[in-house]
Amino acid sequence: MANITFETDFEAGNGVNFKQVGEDTYSFEIRPDTKSEDRQWFYFRVRGAAGRTLRFQLGGIAATNVPEHWELSRPVVSHDGGKTWRWISGETAVDLSADRFSFSHHVKSDAELIAYHFPYGFEKLEGEVRRWAAHEDAKHSVIGKTVQGRPVHYLRVEKGNARKEIGVWICARVHAAETTASFTAEGFIDFLLSDDPRALELRERAVFHIVPMVNPDGAVAGNYRDNIEGINLNRVWDAPSPETSPEVVAVRRVLDEWADAGNPYHLFIDFHSDSAAQSHYAFYPDGSAETPLYHTPADYHEHIRKFLRHVAAEAPDFCLDEGASTASDPTLSFHMQRMTRGVLAMIPEGSYGMLKRGPNSGRPITPRDHQIVGAAFCIAIWSYYFADSR
Ligand SMILES: [Zn+2]
Repeated sequence: MANITFETDFEAGNGVNFKQVGEDTYSFEIRPDTKSEDRQWFYFRVRGAAGRTLRFQLGGIAATNVPEHWELSRPVVSHDGGKTWRWISGETAVDLSADRFSFSHHVKSDAELIAYHFPYGFEKLEGEVRRWAAHEDAKHSVIGKTVQGRPVHYLRVEKGNARKEIGVWICARVHAAETTASFTAEGFIDFLLSDDPRALELRERAVFHIVPMVNPDGAVAGNYRDNIEGINLNRVWDAPSPETSPEVVAVRRVLDEWADAGNPYHLFIDFHSDSAAQSHYAFYPDGSAETPLYHTPADYHEHIRKFLRHVAAEAPDFCLDEGASTASDPTLSFHMQRMTRGVLAMIPEGSYGMLKRGPNSGRPITPRDHQIVGAAFCIAIWSYYFADSR
């Protein structure tokens, strides 16, 4: 019988210390992010196991960022080299005393890929950017380089050059392995560039600045959160470094130039994933920073919740009852809220595993679910700014 081997030498690969610990049972661990202790994401290839049912034991789950996630986890597999993905075929189990998460899977191919959640790599992103950039209302540019020299892609979407009523900023994937954020952003952009009459009105009356992947180096390295220098890029928005966080320097330059030129900001959306999430939800600044556009924190929150109710009307899995967060960290959304004194800033979080809330509770979440939420955020902009005021 051929030897079973494991590989991670590809984009977003992560997994170490693979060992056979029983007949058809293999243990492994997650490699921490480069220069960091963060860890949650794994992605490996198993060779030589076609036709066999293997049991995997992921050790060291107490050291992962979100140990409670493993109860919700449902890894995904591909037997066609990553073209299509599905859920593992077997059972999962968490054993806290043994500090491990186990799952079994009937392997179909001689090069089966197994991952924490549906991968969404930089290569795929660049293909989508080319597709979006072909639209007549989308202008693409590279606004900077990562530590390892990869491009930071930026799209500006609007119809014509006339000054627009509404300024919208969209970011995603500041955290390396938050792939749900990329599917959500993709759903948002696909709707925005569609022929739907609401999308057309959005492009005519609003301008969209979009950075769909802030942290390509971390994504390619198979990190969970950080960039290649071990920096959590969502904690350095107030003072980024050209050496260790040039990705944030690049985004800040475009953000600041737009504001310095006297252009308005109205809405800021930063797509993320939350390993503890039991459904899609959003959190947002608590409004304790200056919010003169909205008079009081309560008023500010009422506007955000009104916006999110529009999202929930379009996306049934979106939950409204997880909410305001304190404004202590220099995250991008809080930075934006302070800088713009009251832009509606929100951080939608996608779930990675089994849904435990909402109408689809009890089933694993899919990329299509993320895309529906993304389109719902785009439609909500139309509803909130245009339809409500008619
Ligand atoms: Zn995140």
